[in-house]
Amino acid sequence: MTLLITNEAGLHHQMPPGHPEQIARLEHVFRALNAPDFAALDRRAAPMAEEADLLLAHPETHVAALRVAAPAEGLVALDADSAMSPGTWEAALRGVGGCFAAVDAVLAGEAKNAFVATRPPGHHAEKTRAMGFCLFGNVALAAKHALDRHGLSRVAIVDFDVHHGNGTQDLLWDEARVLFVSSHQMPLYPGSGAAQERGAHGQILNLPLAPGSDGAAMRAVYESRVLPRLRDHAPDLILVSAGFDAHADDPLANLIWSTEDFAWLTRELCSVAAEVCGGRLVSSLEGGYDLDALSDAVAAHVAALMEA
Ligand SMILES: [Zn+2]
Repeated sequence: MTLLITNEAGLHHQMPPGHPEQIARLEHVFRALNAPDFAALDRRAAPMAEEADLLLAHPETHVAALRVAAPAEGLVALDADSAMSPGTWEAALRGVGGCFAAVDAVLAGEAKNAFVATRPPGHHAEKTRAMGFCLFGNVALAAKHALDRHGLSRVAIVDFDVHHGNGTQDLLWDEARVLFVSSHQMPLYPGSGAAQERGAHGQILNLPLAPGSDGAAMRAVYESRVLPRLRDHAPDLILVSAGFDAHADDPLANLIWSTEDFAWLTRELCSVAAEVCGGRLVSSLEGGYDLDALSDAVAAHVAALMEA
């Protein structure tokens, strides 16, 4: 059984007109996952996270600063490309809460795996800084939740968004129990993610990909570097930062992955999960800015989760 957690509050998180991280992204994802092919999904609404949930990896100052910044009307800029609207605070809290609920359900055996359809995304949010459309580190926080509250020994995070997961890296730099793997185009925003960045315990694996590299190059890197490392780490749970902006049609980057490449990658990650942790895998939406490519790739990703 695959669980789908939807963050409807994400439809009320506004960004400036013309911004690529737009409400229509989530509308397209919801529409794709409402097709008859997905009737078997177990569907739940994302609950609100509590402040204590955010404090698993962010300091209180960061949480308080964003709570105070949330506007009653209009938009407030957080950095050059991140903003808050009146609906943003709830959307961000439900994004974190959705990831936690997915972890809870998968660890309770209520579902084998789960996809969290949410915005804003999370993997650029650093401990003390919202950036890159992100406020809180949804997936890094979910890893902490799984370790500190469920008592897991080891977790792995695979981030295949086209941008480096600098926030996840920042939140988990000292966390020996989490293997963090990020593949991303380099050079590209945010500029971090060189192979030499390995974490305080050598537990971070950054895999920069050259602009123009295709799905065959991605498959070679995952087969030779990522899947063996995942097996070695033997996590109790695999978390996925699922960004779909490495797609050839995406306007923000220059990799040329196909929809089928995302399906392949999902099947491979599910296969390792089946070997090492009973198939337990939780995936959360990050980027993906061509609306049709995004909805097609999400559909392929979730279909592969359902087949696992
Ligand atoms: Zn991205």
